[in-house]
Amino acid sequence: MFRSVVALTLAVGLAGASSSVRAEEPASEHMQAMPPAKPAAVQALLFRPQDKTPAPQAAPEQPKKAEPATSTLPCAHPGALGTSRTITVAADAFPRIGTMQYRNSLPLNDHEVVITFDDGPLPPYTDRVLAALDAECVKVTYFIVGQMARAYPDTLRRIYNAGHVIGTHSMHHPFSMDRMDAAQLTSEIDGGIAAVKAAIGDDRAVAPFFRVPGLARSRTLENFAAAQTLAVWSADEVADDWHHGIKPAQIVERAMRRIEAKGHRGVLLLHDIHPATAMAVPMLLKELKAKGYKIVQAVPAGERPASVPERTPDEIAAARAQGWPRVIKASLKGHHSRDHKDAAADEAGDSFLGKLAGKKRHTLAAAHKADGLFDR
Ligand SMILES: [Zn+2]
Repeated sequence: MFRSVVALTLAVGLAGASSSVRAEEPASEHMQAMPPAKPAAVQALLFRPQDKTPAPQAAPEQPKKAEPATSTLPCAHPGALGTSRTITVAADAFPRIGTMQYRNSLPLNDHEVVITFDDGPLPPYTDRVLAALDAECVKVTYFIVGQMARAYPDTLRRIYNAGHVIGTHSMHHPFSMDRMDAAQLTSEIDGGIAAVKAAIGDDRAVAPFFRVPGLARSRTLENFAAAQTLAVWSADEVADDWHHGIKPAQIVERAMRRIEAKGHRGVLLLHDIHPATAMAVPMLLKELKAKGYKIVQAVPAGERPASVPERTPDEIAAARAQGWPRVIKASLKGHHSRDHKDAAADEAGDSFLGKLAGKKRHTLAAAHKADGLFDR
């Protein structure tokens, strides 16, 4: 109970839910045959909690550098959905990904889906999602928040060692990145990457993939990312799994409907910090399998370690007894001055969770009243 309150309050704390989502401005060097997703369509998709509007119809364009090779990754579970192939994603070929905001997505074939999870890790929901993915031998891509990695490094390492790809999603999940200057972007983007690298214990285990909190893109941010050869990820489909009170079956239905509306393919964005998502994932994988879909995993170019060191339960218990891990308190307000407050805001993990459960519950209702949005 304690933790489910935390999941919700954290999401709200990380949210703020005020930014607008914009499609990419026209850029002649990237003009392609397919029209860009319309800003209005993106807004409709994102900002209406009970949205009945199908996802924009345009199918993802086939970029120049398609991966021809198709191979089935090893799977020990007979009859599992499996992961049919990988796509190598490098920022020079795929600087911006996802038709919700950009012209291009990944070069997926008919009935191919890339699954992504944002905002974690957060036990126990992350663990449940991991178990569901493992049962079907499905490999996915995570976009990790720096402060969450700092709070749950062992969960992060388990994700990696299960064969998933680790990208990043800022340090504190501000919803104001579309208004940030270079110094602020450095703090959030580079700070998040550094925190995730520190938590996972091996720099090479972190992919140069970045998703903007709230999809609050800006040209400044995209240029900043490009200069660091970071691929910026939007998505092709969301399933509204951050909505208050959404049922697992509704998440599955929306995901499937929108995938089918976008040419039976796409990059799907989910959040492994929500209980409803954790319950939906097994159903979603079953549905994808029943309808003949294949899972594709997006992987970074270059060498990655086969695994990262995991601590034993005894080592984790001993560390916790000494007040570790230490967690940065999630702010419910703006994040502009966060960096200066981090040291003072550090709390031992359990103390942090208790404070959130005790005093921030009201903000959940306030956020829902505002627009029902945790994250995108
Ligand atoms: Zn997010």
